[in-house]
Amino acid sequence: MHRRLIAPGALAASLLLAIPASAADYTPGAPGIGDPYYPAYGNGGYDVSHYDLRLQYQPATDELQGTATLLATTTQDLSRFDLDFLLDVSEVRVNGAKASFTTSGQHELEITPATPLPKGTPVTVVVRYSGVPSTKSAYGFSTWHRTPDGAVAADEPESAWWWFPSNDHPSDKATYDVSVAVPDGTQAISNGTLQSTSSRLGWTRYSWRSNKPQATYLATLAIGKFDITTGTTAAGVPVVNAYSKDLGDNDGAARASVERTGEIVDWLTGYFGPYPFSSVGGYVPNTTTGYALETQTRVYYSPRQFANGSNTSVVVHELAHQWYGDDVSLKGWKDIWINEGFARYAQWLWSEHEGEGTAQELADYVYASHPADDAFWKVAPGDPGPDNQFDTAVYDRGAVAVQALRNEVGDDTFFAILKGWPREHAYGNASVGDFQKYAEKVSGKSLATLFDTWLFEPSKPAAPAARGASIAVAPATAGAPATAGAPAQPRSWKKIAATDSVHSG
Ligand SMILES: [Zn+2]
Repeated sequence: MHRRLIAPGALAASLLLAIPASAADYTPGAPGIGDPYYPAYGNGGYDVSHYDLRLQYQPATDELQGTATLLATTTQDLSRFDLDFLLDVSEVRVNGAKASFTTSGQHELEITPATPLPKGTPVTVVVRYSGVPSTKSAYGFSTWHRTPDGAVAADEPESAWWWFPSNDHPSDKATYDVSVAVPDGTQAISNGTLQSTSSRLGWTRYSWRSNKPQATYLATLAIGKFDITTGTTAAGVPVVNAYSKDLGDNDGAARASVERTGEIVDWLTGYFGPYPFSSVGGYVPNTTTGYALETQTRVYYSPRQFANGSNTSVVVHELAHQWYGDDVSLKGWKDIWINEGFARYAQWLWSEHEGEGTAQELADYVYASHPADDAFWKVAPGDPGPDNQFDTAVYDRGAVAVQALRNEVGDDTFFAILKGWPREHAYGNASVGDFQKYAEKVSGKSLATLFDTWLFEPSKPAAPAARGASIAVAPATAGAPATAGAPAQPRSWKKIAATDSVHSG
């Protein structure tokens, strides 16, 4: 009897707890995730853990249609929330119920669920959509690349808006299943492993899986007629590469470079530790762009990267990003040095490996090549600002900073830091400050002055990043005649400089 009397009261109390106290406690998620470089990018109020994209693409008309299913968790009491997206949405469901939606700003899809969403609860969002990506733009630009036989989405920092709705910021990483139906005879390439292909009524469906956290800008889609090669690295990582069938004169050089992927991944493993993903490779579509991009597990290369012959240096750069940028992603776009300083430094290590100039020689050459009044030294790689995010200084001064660290802590400690960092922040996000802290922990040294000098001071540091003043001009660096007192141009310089169009679309 006692239980009977008390039970309805307890039930009522628990119901009260489950009901929102008032609608006023539920507020809209912010239209941006809070990155000062790109205030409208990403969104507030939730965190995505998985994207399931089931798409169909017709190359002849550039029509893309499909359904995106997002698994997320709310991080605040939400009355509504945004996704970043440009295509035409026909229906949105939140936890199974139809939600109302509208668009705002440059690329916001505003979704109002039928019932508000309490903080800390799982949410399933389904977005049905269609559209012609090449007709959509934001801020006056598009990064959707049509090709004679298809299209490609690969750009930084924005490419998702043209093909799937997302929380478009690298601080919200998620796993992906990308399944795309294309006309028979055409292929669809994406990240990770190819789980299956199936053909029906003239359409072939390619289903790709990226089973480790991946930033939105590192998700890629390529549709076209490709020659696909497969293999396995000596260490056992499956390799999938793809080449457009109409690369023309660049075909041989592209393959002679990208087919070195397995060898280079295994070589990088010696510096960075075990390869962090389940698959690796690259693809070369017949785009007219000039850059390459470290799209996760499946690197994007413009054919122009190979216009002057093979270039393994760009392959080294993009594969180095799989550890520095993809496995450990930046927290905010100001932390770009975490990506580019180290990808460029990997090219210097490769130069050393190839006998075409040591990292120290390359650092000396960069230092000597830019006089004190050069704008190069005005760019702070540690926080370059959105306009200079992909400036050459982020790469070259950024790599000189890495060499300065090496000289400060010595080779043994330096290489321990290089290999330990991806393990320290595996599949996560980190900042320039986090790197400094980690280097200080491993070396036992205070590195504040060193980091400030090389990454943040808007002026040319007084001394080169050398141990002592012994700037040797080694026989291996006979690329260009040395002027008195100036280091010679290392033989690898031109190949490395040729990759400077990396990222600058
Ligand atoms: Zn890069």
